[in-house]
Amino acid sequence: QAKQQGRATYRFYTQALHDQSVERVQLERLLRHALERHEFELYYQPQVDLRDGRIIGCEALIRWNHPGMGQVSPGRFIPIAEHSGLIIDIGNWVMQEACRQPKRWHDQGRDIKVSFNVSARQFMRPAELMQSLKAALAESGVDATRMEVELTESLLLDPQGMGEVLHEIRALGIQLALDDFGTGYSSLSYLRRFPINILKIDQSFVSDADNNPDDAEMVKTIIGMAHNLRMSVVAEGIETEAHRALLAMQGCRVGQGYHYSRPVPAEEFSRLLQRGSG
Ligand code: C2E
Ligand code: MG
Ligand code: MG
Ligand code: MG
Repeated sequence: QAKQQGRATYRFYTQALHDQSVERVQLERLLRHALERHEFELYYQPQVDLRDGRIIGCEALIRWNHPGMGQVSPGRFIPIAEHSGLIIDIGNWVMQEACRQPKRWHDQGRDIKVSFNVSARQFMRPAELMQSLKAALAESGVDATRMEVELTESLLLDPQGMGEVLHEIRALGIQLALDDFGTGYSSLSYLRRFPINILKIDQSFVSDADNNPDDAEMVKTIIGMAHNLRMSVVAEGIETEAHRALLAMQGCRVGQGYHYSRPVPAEEFSRLLQRGSG
């Protein structure tokens, strides 16, 4: 009977795996046309001064609006875009669009920093990445110091050429932020070796920092480490006043999270800016 059960479980999993790969193949097929059909949109989540609630920047986050499926979350399609290589073109679109945004808000009388996510796949072709970045800056005329690239820790484990491309990005004036910090394996020595400006504390530490002493300690350590290395810190996933207060007390100046706002379309972000608190 155990054997039978085993076989049933096996069938169940292979079926599930099959469904999963069919879904992936279908999504990939639809993803191939998404750019030309203008189905992507950038949402913006405010980055806020934790002391007074003033909006000082934002993170651009991609959304895929598919006519049949509705909005597909990046958690679902970014891995497929990375696996298939489509992330190169999608990533280039993201940086173009993100670079255009500060000017629009500047015309509204506000100077807002914009950070955007760059995938490891894009870093694997550094020459192309640099060319696209330079083109996006030139085409938009944006002041590069307003722009910020978010990369993940795992990239720093690949010593080959990473230092060089990161220095080139910094030389353009763009800031570098390490995303989801604390979830990977970067050590102090890695951090010192690369020209990183900002550590983004992963939301998993923030969400439990008010009742889990280990997470609270982690948050405190990251903030101390950042300051020792003369980097700034951004806390992700600030969902409550308790989170805000705790992070602010530990010396973290900037945060983002549902406590302030979910990521919103550009026009809605403009309204947030006008609404005083910004
Ligand atoms: P991320 O870069 O770490 O972005 C933060 C994610 O946390 C976003 O999810 C955001 O909506 C969510 N978030 C913000 N505040 C809160 C909060 O208070 N609580 C909780 N639970 N979540 C919060 P989103 O937009 O679904 O993006 C997920 C991931 O997809 C991003 O994680 C990033 O890794 C990737 N991604 C998004 N846009 C892009 C893009 O343009 N290019 C690339 N390569 N990756 C992207
Ligand atoms: Mg990010
Ligand atoms: Mg993050
Ligand atoms: Mg994340």
